[in-house]
Amino acid sequence: MNIIPLPALADNYIWLLHDRDGNAVVVDPGDGDVVERELRARGLRLRAILLTHHHQDHIGGVAQLVDVWRVAVFAPRDRRIHGATRVVGEGDVIDLGAPRLRFRVIAVPGHTLTHVAFFGEGLLLCGDTLFSLGCGRLFEGTPAQMLDSLDRIATLPAATWICPAHEYTEANGRFARMIEPSNQSLAERCAQAASLRARRLPTLPVTLADELRNNPFLRVDSDGVREWDQRQRAATSVRSERFARLRAAKDGFG
Ligand code: ZN
Ligand code: FE
Repeated sequence: MNIIPLPALADNYIWLLHDRDGNAVVVDPGDGDVVERELRARGLRLRAILLTHHHQDHIGGVAQLVDVWRVAVFAPRDRRIHGATRVVGEGDVIDLGAPRLRFRVIAVPGHTLTHVAFFGEGLLLCGDTLFSLGCGRLFEGTPAQMLDSLDRIATLPAATWICPAHEYTEANGRFARMIEPSNQSLAERCAQAASLRARRLPTLPVTLADELRNNPFLRVDSDGVREWDQRQRAATSVRSERFARLRAAKDGFG
């Protein structure tokens, strides 16, 4: 299976998966033209569309692609997602014949309340829930909901390739280093990301193992994040409150 992040819009990635016979799937096609161009360039046929959540930068190209390809659109139950033909939720399995792919659906509320992720084939397609060195903004969910979603992701096999929907690694890295200035592995990841971005290459996918070492939002129990929290003079050290302070600090950080 080939796994390709297609840059789209300002900083989105549309993940394109295809087999050797030319059968393709796209995840979160925010821009139909970007997908069409790539399908044509690689001689692929679109077989299905997967959607993680309702935001326009993830679904904007769906109508155009369905018009041409008449494919199934797998999406969470949400009236804000138009054109979904297969509603999926926690625990559902998506089994495609061509390309031969099998994904388990994981409900990951936080960024939005109906956000889902797709896990299978050694990949996690996680939309705007987990980014490299960061996590999604809490537009609809509570910090406790997002923390619970990230906790569930953290229990997946460490070798899983994380496939987020945005190239935010460098900006996230600046915040992460402010939180954990003495995390050497994080410093190395930031240097790697800078070098990739200087060549306009994606910093993704990234393994869950890497993120567990480097991403402060997966490290609320680490000494580094606890020490940062203590410097905030927080009155309590309840885990979900620590996460909430971390997320709020990131919002203020820009
Ligand atoms: Zn979003
Ligand atoms: Fe987005």
